[in-house]
Amino acid sequence: MCSALVTGESGQAGTWQRAQAVVPRGVSSGHRVGWQQVFVRAAGAYVWDQDGNRYVDYLNAWGPIVLGHADRRVNEAVFSAASTCDLTGVGPQAGEAELAERICAVMPAAEKVAFCTSGTDATMHAVHLARAATGRLKILKFHGAYHGWNDHVAVGSSRRDLTPASPLNTPNGGGLHPAVVADVIVVEWNDEAGLRRAFDEHGDQLAAAFTEGYMHSFGCVPAEPGFLGLLRSLCTRHGVVMVMDEIKTGFRAAIGGYQSVCGITPDLAVFGKAIANGYSLAGLAGNDALMGHLGAYSKSEATIDGTYNASPYALAAANKTMEIMESEDIFGVLYARGAAIRAGIQAAIDETGAPATVAGLGSQWCVYFRPQLPVNFREAMESDGEMHARYHASLLAQGVLEPAFPTGDRRLNASTTEADVAFTVESVRVALRSAIG
Ligand code: PMP
Repeated sequence: MCSALVTGESGQAGTWQRAQAVVPRGVSSGHRVGWQQVFVRAAGAYVWDQDGNRYVDYLNAWGPIVLGHADRRVNEAVFSAASTCDLTGVGPQAGEAELAERICAVMPAAEKVAFCTSGTDATMHAVHLARAATGRLKILKFHGAYHGWNDHVAVGSSRRDLTPASPLNTPNGGGLHPAVVADVIVVEWNDEAGLRRAFDEHGDQLAAAFTEGYMHSFGCVPAEPGFLGLLRSLCTRHGVVMVMDEIKTGFRAAIGGYQSVCGITPDLAVFGKAIANGYSLAGLAGNDALMGHLGAYSKSEATIDGTYNASPYALAAANKTMEIMESEDIFGVLYARGAAIRAGIQAAIDETGAPATVAGLGSQWCVYFRPQLPVNFREAMESDGEMHARYHASLLAQGVLEPAFPTGDRRLNASTTEADVAFTVESVRVALRSAIG
C-alpha cells in the first residue's frame, strides 16, 4: 500500500511525479519514459499536452492511429457494440466472422484469421503454431527486428552494448529464459550469404522464420531486391513457416499489408496496430492447413485462449476502420502526404547541408544522421545520436511530435492536411539547422 499522496510539483511535472510514486518509472510501457509531456487531448492529426501546447502527431501511438485521433465514426461503432452485446466469452463474438471475411478478401496469406489483443500475443501464438505444425523448435529472425516481448523473439534487437563485433543473438532484456534465447538464430538484415548459411546449418530444425516485409524496427530499411524472395524460397525448401510481421505495415502500407505490395506471400502473417485505429486488436492470418493447428486443447496443437480475444468493441473498431479504408481513398492520402513530407525533408537536407538522409514508404519515414542510407541494424544505429537529440528537441519546441528514438519510423495519419505537411517541413528546416549547430 502506498502511504502518502505525492505533492510538490504542479502541471505536467506534478503528473509525472504522482505517476512515478505508484507506477514503475511512471509508465506501463517502456518507450513512454523520457518525456516531459503528459498528453490530455487528441483529435485528428493533433495532440495537446497538459499545458495546452498543440503538436502535429507523427508518433501516432507507435502506429495504431491511422485514420486520425478519436475518429468519431470508429468511436460510435465501439459505443454501439459495447452497449448492444459486450464480451460474452461464448462462441463467435459479434463482428468476428465479418472482420475475418474482410481480411481474407484483401490479405494474400489469409484463408483463416484468429484474433488476440496485442502484437506480442500474436507473435507468441505464431511461434507456438509454427512449432506445433513442424514439430521443430528453432526460430530465425533478423538483427534489430522487434517482434514483441516473448522470450522466443525478444532476442537480437537490443540497442545496448551494440558494437561492430557484438554477437547477433543477445537477449533484449532481463528475465528471458536462456534456453529459449539459445534457440533463436539471428541473421543480419539484407545479408544473403548469412541467410543461406543459417538455413544450411539450421534449416531442418527451424520451425519459423520471422521477418518484417519492410523493416521499421530500426526506421525505414527496405529489403534489398531479391532478399524476401530468397527467404521465401529457403522457407519452402526447408519446410519452415515464413511469418511476415505486419504489425506496423498491416492496414498502413496497404489494406492487404506489405505482402500485397511486395508480392511475396508468407505462410503466416501477424497484424495489429492500425487495424482498429487505436483499439487493442491483433491477430494471425494464414493458410487453412497451417491455421488448422491453432485452437485445440491438445499436446500436439497450439492453443489460442484469451479472455479478451476478439472482444466486440475492438472488432467494431476494426470493422469500421476497414469499412472506411474500403470506401474512402485513405491510402491515397497517406501516400501523398508521406511523399510530400519526404520530398520536403530531402529539400531541407539539401538546403541546410545537414549530413543526413531520409527514407520511407507510404505514410512512414525516418531521417538518419549519416551520409548514406543504412541497409542493416548496425548501420542504422550509426546515426548520430547527438544531432538527432538537437533535431528532436527543436521539432518538439516547434509543435511537432515524433518518436524520441533516433531510428524509429515516423508516421502520419490520414487526417494530416497539406498545411500540416508544409508546417512540418518548415519546422524540419529549422530543426536541421539546430542539429548541425
Ligand atoms: N512487431 C512489430 C513489428 C512491432 O512494431 C511491434 C510493436 N511496436 C510488435 C511486434 C509488438 O506489438 P505490441 O506492442 O502490440 O505487443
